[in-house]
Amino acid sequence: MPLPKKVLLYARLSVTTEESVSIERQLESARKTAEARGWEVVGEHVDDGVSASRVKPEDRVGWRAVLAHEGRLDAVIVWKIDRLARRVLDFLHADEALQARGAGIVAVEDPIDMTTPQGRAFAVMLSVFAELEAATISARVTAAREAILRAGRRAGGRPPFGFMNVENPAGPGMVLAHDPERIDLVREMAARAAAGDSLYSISRWLETDGVAPRARVGKVDADHWHDASVEAVLRSPALAGMTAFRGDLIRGGDGLPVVDESVAIMSPSERRQMLATLDAAKRPGSRSTSNKEPALLYGIVRCGSCDSLMYRATAAGKYRQYRCQQKACTQRMGIARDALERHVPEAVLRERGDKLLVKSVPIVGDDDGTLVEIEHAIRETTEAMTKEDADLVALVERLQALKRRRSEARTGEDRPQAQYRVSGQTFGHEWMRVGDEDIEARRQLLMGQLEAVRIMPGGGRGRAFDASRAVLVWKGASASDERLTHALQSAASKVPEFIVVGH
Ligand SMILES: [Zn+2]
Repeated sequence: MPLPKKVLLYARLSVTTEESVSIERQLESARKTAEARGWEVVGEHVDDGVSASRVKPEDRVGWRAVLAHEGRLDAVIVWKIDRLARRVLDFLHADEALQARGAGIVAVEDPIDMTTPQGRAFAVMLSVFAELEAATISARVTAAREAILRAGRRAGGRPPFGFMNVENPAGPGMVLAHDPERIDLVREMAARAAAGDSLYSISRWLETDGVAPRARVGKVDADHWHDASVEAVLRSPALAGMTAFRGDLIRGGDGLPVVDESVAIMSPSERRQMLATLDAAKRPGSRSTSNKEPALLYGIVRCGSCDSLMYRATAAGKYRQYRCQQKACTQRMGIARDALERHVPEAVLRERGDKLLVKSVPIVGDDDGTLVEIEHAIRETTEAMTKEDADLVALVERLQALKRRRSEARTGEDRPQAQYRVSGQTFGHEWMRVGDEDIEARRQLLMGQLEAVRIMPGGGRGRAFDASRAVLVWKGASASDERLTHALQSAASKVPEFIVVGH
């Protein structure tokens, strides 16, 4: 009776779980195979979390232990040969190394017998297929992810701030849901952003209210809100119930983003308008994009001689001033800063404190926002066409679908280029609401009312404060604007005699 063959078992599981057969199941079926053939198992070796495509067998701890086995070895049992290698050359090298010490590979699921020429040829063929399969895995993973997202499910990853992953009540997997502790914060953030509040003022509000951003391991200063973290929350497509996918959004057959109404806290057109407001704020000159607070009257106070903007300055290290910095200016006005910063808000509150604020919204919506969404989708689609790896056929199809939708949605009537929103709040109320801590927000409020404050020459010492030196140039309501008139008419009966246009 011949001695029983001595065999080792080898199992591998990849980091990408393209196969769902666990290490234990691989080993279990290998053990059964050994038992059925009357072989003696002399050891088991495992490579867990190791990709066969990226790590050659000879570079794996488990496989090296197989080769280093001391004593007689007749065969190594694997569940399938792709557990050993996904490249033909890798497989042949591994086989060669085993042969050198008199052992062959046996696969449970693949009929491999490396001792005959037929078995050898068949093994090579199988490993060719395994290699082809590996090449398509990344494509299949992407496709699977898209399918999961299209089904309205989560495909892993952190949910956006204000949302959480919950078990899908209607089937397998996870879906997005509101995080009850945070969703109202996101609503408030979005409302403030849509109303034109700066990222800076929103982050200040969150900090003041003690709202904790979500911890991000390893990020510097991660427990504070910044412009960037506020903006990231606001720009999440989840706010409108939409899902990002590979730099685009998950779209329906008509090319428009798919919207999950159950998680949306704003309509697509409201989101579009809020993003336009955020974008507008980033344009140079529109408002501060940094965390550094400007002086309250920066951008407003101008030299009465040369009309250029005046900046904060110190005089003899003593008086803080606004001063003309134009070298060519003949008079270079200066004025005491503290007194001017008290005087100007007082004058504005006196003049306009009880007037209703009307905000112009920088982007137009048709009534339900559909046309805007379509136009936006068309622009996104044409932009996507210029990318190097663009799927042109799919994009052209989408473009055609969108253009069909657009001609259906068009009413023939020309849409206005801007619209106004009556906030229902007075200037004075808004001034108190933002508080004296938020200088940038108050500066924005003043800029909504004042074209400029011109500083005229004073008598005597020249830079001392005198209210008569500050000439306030008001921004007027464009009462001739039909759309403004319309907004006011629909705002209610209590329209005051004078209207303040903000923003
Ligand atoms: Zn000047």
